[in-house]
Amino acid sequence: MFAPQFDYYRAGSVAEAAALLAEHPEAKLLAGGHSLIPLLKLRLAAPSALVDIGRIDSLRSIREESGTIEIGALTTHSELASSELLRSRATALAEAAGMIGDPAVRNRGTIGGNVAHADPASDLPAVLACLGAEFRVTGGNGDRSVGASDFFEGLMSTAIGEGDILTSIGIPTVDSACGSAYAKFAHPASRYAVIGAAAALVVDEDGSCTCASVTLGGLVPAPVRATAVEEALVGTRLDAAAIASASGLTGDALDADDVLGDVYASAEYRRSVAQVWVQRALSSAAARCG
Ligand SMILES: Cc1cc2nc3c(=O)[nH]c(=O)nc-3n(C[C@H](O)[C@H](O)[C@H](O)COP(=O)(O)OP(=O)(O)OC[C@H]3O[C@@H](n4cnc5c(N)ncnc54)[C@H](O)[C@@H]3O)c2cc1C
Repeated sequence: MFAPQFDYYRAGSVAEAAALLAEHPEAKLLAGGHSLIPLLKLRLAAPSALVDIGRIDSLRSIREESGTIEIGALTTHSELASSELLRSRATALAEAAGMIGDPAVRNRGTIGGNVAHADPASDLPAVLACLGAEFRVTGGNGDRSVGASDFFEGLMSTAIGEGDILTSIGIPTVDSACGSAYAKFAHPASRYAVIGAAAALVVDEDGSCTCASVTLGGLVPAPVRATAVEEALVGTRLDAAAIASASGLTGDALDADDVLGDVYASAEYRRSVAQVWVQRALSSAAARCG
């Protein structure tokens, strides 16, 4: 199937991309193309123009600066998965990126495109929400930094407005007493998340949990925090019994009307087994607290 006709512009800088978007309000940004091109071919989108940002090198980096790991929007899933900095300080993100699709998808797909597309079955939104990410946006509505709870507005909907460009994502750095992990029930063909669970835990010197963040994706329109699970973990020693008991509260985070279902896995099924993936993510995260 062929994409509908569109004009093509290649931007050499963020400023140039912003100017092109202002000039062509119906244009779409093109990053890795692994979500947008299929949409065009299926005729689910027909923008008059594409603004290719794929060669703006300044948007491709992972660096630590003043308490934040700043990740450029064009950083590919492969680069996330192989980053030593992320593997040690934001393990869940590197782990999730390494589980995306197949090598071809990981080599082309970008973190910015993944979160801007906001497919509920994507892996990175839940992980970034769990890690307390801030999304840096520039363009039509000025420069701003948006927290995950405001960034992901719903099914394939984000705070990125017309003329906006997501430039980077910041994650607060954590110390070695923190552990994070991502576990997913992957669709066997696409590897998209049927259920995804991200967990980040902090322990004190005695091994007691002082802070827990648990987020679910895949089965809901936008990432949701499992606050009952988080609260049940704080003060425990994160042993198998405490994790199993807290994971049992996963259903509290899921509004039955919001849980997604399809021919592959019904909403009832996803809702009932989500706690298994939460338990797996928590067990791995707890083992990494050190
Ligand atoms: C076979 C296959 C399997 C996949 N499996 C998985 C999986 O298991 N898990 C998973 O999470 N994903 C999966 N994906 C999706 C993949 O991760 C995509 O690469 C990603 O969702 C989109 O990134 P992209 O760089 O390709 O974006 P594009 O396709 O180029 O763009 C996607 C959307 O984001 C917008 N956009 C892109 N960059 C920006 C920016 N910087 N600022 C503002 N808007 C922007 C575009 O305008 C477009 O609307 C799969 C894709 C395929 C084809």
